[in-house]
Amino acid sequence: MRSPGVSPSPSDVDRQGGRYVEEMSATATPRPHYDVVVVGGGHNGLVSAAYLARAGLTVLVLERLGHTGGAAVSAPAFSGHDVRLSRYSYLVSLMPEALMADLDLDIRLTSRSTASYTPTLRDGEPGGLLVQRPERGKTRRSFRRLCGDDEYAAWQAFYTEVSGVAEVVAPSLLTPLPTERDVRERVDAQIWQDLVERPLGEAVERRFADDTVRGVVATDALIGTFASMHDPSLVQNRCFLYHLIGNGTGEWRVPVGGMGSVTDALAAAAARAGAEIITGAGVSAIRTGADGAEVTWHSRNGEHTVAASYVLAGVAPWVLRILLGEPEDPATKPVGAQLKINLLLDRLPRLRSGIDPTTAFAGTLHLAEDYSELERAYAEAAAGAVPSRLPGEVYCHSLSDPSILGADAAEGRHTLTYFGLHTPATLFEADPAGAKALAVERALASLDEHLVEPIASCLSRDAEGNPCLEAKIPQDIEADLAMPGGHIFHGDLEWPWAPTRARLDTPAQQWGVQTGLDRVLLCGSGARRGGAVSGIAGHNAAHAVLASR
Ligand SMILES: Cc1cc2nc3c(=O)[nH]c(=O)nc-3n(C[C@H](O)[C@H](O)[C@H](O)COP(=O)(O)OP(=O)(O)OC[C@H]3O[C@@H](n4cnc5c(N)ncnc54)[C@H](O)[C@@H]3O)c2cc1C
Repeated sequence: MRSPGVSPSPSDVDRQGGRYVEEMSATATPRPHYDVVVVGGGHNGLVSAAYLARAGLTVLVLERLGHTGGAAVSAPAFSGHDVRLSRYSYLVSLMPEALMADLDLDIRLTSRSTASYTPTLRDGEPGGLLVQRPERGKTRRSFRRLCGDDEYAAWQAFYTEVSGVAEVVAPSLLTPLPTERDVRERVDAQIWQDLVERPLGEAVERRFADDTVRGVVATDALIGTFASMHDPSLVQNRCFLYHLIGNGTGEWRVPVGGMGSVTDALAAAAARAGAEIITGAGVSAIRTGADGAEVTWHSRNGEHTVAASYVLAGVAPWVLRILLGEPEDPATKPVGAQLKINLLLDRLPRLRSGIDPTTAFAGTLHLAEDYSELERAYAEAAAGAVPSRLPGEVYCHSLSDPSILGADAAEGRHTLTYFGLHTPATLFEADPAGAKALAVERALASLDEHLVEPIASCLSRDAEGNPCLEAKIPQDIEADLAMPGGHIFHGDLEWPWAPTRARLDTPAQQWGVQTGLDRVLLCGSGARRGGAVSGIAGHNAAHAVLASR
């Protein structure tokens, strides 16, 4: 069923001229043929649908779940509480302002006053590193106390250079792909080498001396990416780049109303433009022909097939291959590596360092993420063990946006979102429940180390009296969202430009959304430049279709 608030209500959308069909009913008969069928109603699929319907094309979106949004949803996770958590993804950086303006999206993103806080225990003394947003005197003093002025100077120099790259790359994300050479020519040679040519660990170790500072820098390379900082594939460098280029600033902002409000706005924009959206419609096959394809799905009412001139796949490339009739290939299946925990608290816990919790939890609070700890955790996980000290980070959404709390706001409650690193799906295969319990225990222990009172004592209780804590390992993400292997980006990220000698003959290749089939394009996270809640892949696939006609 549709979760209230996750998608626009059918009647709202009908009034605006579109057609939103909540699960297929006997009266909701799709046309026999569409210009475009979008497989998967994640936020990217909705962006494609909105652009294409606005251009006058007939568009059908098919979503297997009872609501749209994929990993960008709000949900009431705890019985007896009003609070609507961003259940999976939670912060927005990469959605271009231009895209939001194009589609007249009613989305509010609010800044966090704290960028990050990293509690430390040095010689048993509690302390911490505070990075404000924007950085001011307290940030400088915090660096000075922990590791000295030189380290802060190195920090400022590094991020100024990274901004130079962001300012070049960000405006290209909604255009046909630049080549690597185009971008390289416009970027300082040293930072290019550090970010694009050599494993990022080398630059971090050369530029910074302090283990904690090195770790704070490194985490952006490892969110949703299982790698050593010295991995020769450079997948960690690509992950880092995506985390720093959003809108040219790399700022991660809080979606007011939770992630569901982003999806609500996109679904409304698509439906307003005339796109048809069917939820509860799991696509089981795509058969391609010379001038289009047939798409088959199953709903409560049985099997349905429509024809389309183009099919856009909002699902992961690995899933798409199965829908196209290829056998499941375990060898190429992505492997997700994160532990997500949602918590509801009666009160924010106090920290041993004495910092005001409303400052510390407003931004990203790093736990067991010193550089040496990150590398150790990677090595342990790569050897098949849940890391003994689990690296991760927490953040409190409700400090920046209490609107998600509903009636719980009056009770003084707060949400807490934990995102753990280096927990690949393979760790949970033999004993999912046991390994998950161990990972959750270690995640909470990494927080408790820095608290005056254990986090368990702050947890609210649900209607059944259970603590309000919901944990998702990669297997849960796959079961909930059909993200293969629970990989949050549908697969490893690619550089946001084309290799210098890449073939860029077709619009699909030029926009980085090709699949090898003329009439089937990627519009989801697995497209080049697709990772994260950005809508970029959806925009680019729509433009490739329009340029192909
Ligand atoms: C735990 C977690 C935390 C994250 N945190 C952040 C964050 O804070 N910020 C950020 O920017 N990104 C974050 N991400 C990544 C981000 O959420 C994804 O990159 C993004 O949601 C991808 O959007 P999408 O529309 O491409 O795909 P999805 O969101 O995966 O949507 C694909 C849709 O296709 C549907 N589908 C699948 N198979 C079929 C089928 N056979 N038939 C019909 N429909 C089908 C799915 O149900 C789903 O609705 C996070 C992801 C996770 C899982």
